Amino acid sequence: MMIVMEHGASQQMVDKIAAIVQSNGFTTRMVPMEEQVAINVLGADGNRSSVLETVIGGEDGVQDIRMVSDKYRIASKKFIEDRTLTIERNVHGAKVSVTFNDKNTVMMAGPCAVESEDQMQRTAALLSSLGVRVMRGGAYKPRSSPYDFQGLGEEGLKMARAAADQYGLLYITEVLDVADLETAARYADILQIGTRNMQNYKLLEAVGKSDMPVLLKRGFNATLDELLLSAEYILCQQNHHQVVLCLRGIRTFENETRNTVDLGALPILKQRTWLPVVLDPSHASGRRSLVKPFTQMAIAGGADGFLIEMHPYPEQARCDGAQSMRFREFGDLYDEASALCRYVGRQLI
Ligand code: PEP
Ligand code: MN
Repeated sequence: MMIVMEHGASQQMVDKIAAIVQSNGFTTRMVPMEEQVAINVLGADGNRSSVLETVIGGEDGVQDIRMVSDKYRIASKKFIEDRTLTIERNVHGAKVSVTFNDKNTVMMAGPCAVESEDQMQRTAALLSSLGVRVMRGGAYKPRSSPYDFQGLGEEGLKMARAAADQYGLLYITEVLDVADLETAARYADILQIGTRNMQNYKLLEAVGKSDMPVLLKRGFNATLDELLLSAEYILCQQNHHQVVLCLRGIRTFENETRNTVDLGALPILKQRTWLPVVLDPSHASGRRSLVKPFTQMAIAGGADGFLIEMHPYPEQARCDGAQSMRFREFGDLYDEASALCRYVGRQLI
């Protein structure tokens, strides 16, 4: 059950409703909406919810009581039809923001892993010259082999943050573990949950309790319902509301590409959720020559953004070099993607 409070409802009214709900034995969590709040009532189903509905129905400040039939009730389109999601951070004293909505397509790009100061400086310089506002770069790397490069940890975060600050960019990085969360949150503007951790519920709860925007990748063997339920784990923590979903290919019998790009998921998710949906064509394909065509297909399919790997010297990359674009190639992708975005009524930012 979701109790949507009126636009002008005072804090006192909200507190009163929450207190009534709690005194009836339910748990409440606040859900910030664009200009109002909703109270997510945990444990109210069946008969118990109709009793509660009668008790609070006539109270001041209550606009609407919504019984969302989907299990992912906050993420559901049945709860919120459309919503703009703005990520705004103070970068080196200046406000930098990106807005996900149906007029913008948000580009996030950078190397798979942070490797050196030079690499991050060059990357940030290129991105800012193109007008890209979000830089990626993993400091904690989830590698299939324990012998592969595992990331530079906090040293890497420092290098990326310094480059992002210098060029006025937002920075997204992956967290693998609850133990890394606090450190990563000190340097990053958006936290990424990778495919292997999509169902790491303790990690989802922990990022949900932080005030950080989260990019949640689809598990390579997860259904869309499972993806949405994982998003719900984050959203249902007190006051959390900034989740972006990321498709990155799933595992199938096809071995032509590293993963199989799941573009059919785009329009399906658009029907089910108001959360922005972006594509990572790099991990979906595993090959740099496929990154541009996958991007183009996804723009036509309504993607809200992209997470793309690029590197100043892909041949020397310590991680995912084969799928990392060269700067020149990325510039070319950016120009063509901008034109295609304009054609579908969006702006690439
Ligand atoms: C990444 O983006 O660097 C990454 C490890 O991606 P995924 O979790 O999709 O494999
Ligand atoms: Mn990678």
